Amino acid sequence: MIECVFCNVLSGNIPSHKIWEDDDYLAFLDINPINPGHTLLIPKAHEDYIFDLGTNELGALFSRAKLISEPLKQANKAKRIGIMVEGFAVPHIHVHLIPIHSGHDLDPKRAQPATEHELTAMADKIRKVFDAHE
Ligand SMILES: [Zn+2]
Repeated sequence: MIECVFCNVLSGNIPSHKIWEDDDYLAFLDINPINPGHTLLIPKAHEDYIFDLGTNELGALFSRAKLISEPLKQANKAKRIGIMVEGFAVPHIHVHLIPIHSGHDLDPKRAQPATEHELTAMADKIRKVFDAHE
């Protein structure tokens, strides 16, 4: 087993609540959401620091963030989708996409563990919005 938590999510060694993926990127629910629907978007290729990416890769990453933002916003009736990136806990690029109702929502101290039931229900709800738009 390799060390990186998110590489293990990608390989399936660690189960996750996937909401969307394509060949190069995966989006799944954060198990300690700041708000319900808190999602992590990761590239499938392991890279530590977001600004080591080239301009095209950064553009590709954020075009996926945009794609996911609308279903995430609708499913959670959020005012906006907020973005956070720091990457100290897991050294594999991940963009936090968080349904927010005010600017104060984007506070990592608000993160609380979600139950398996809550995560399963939330992933279903978000995937339904994606399916409705296909
Ligand atoms: Zn990794």
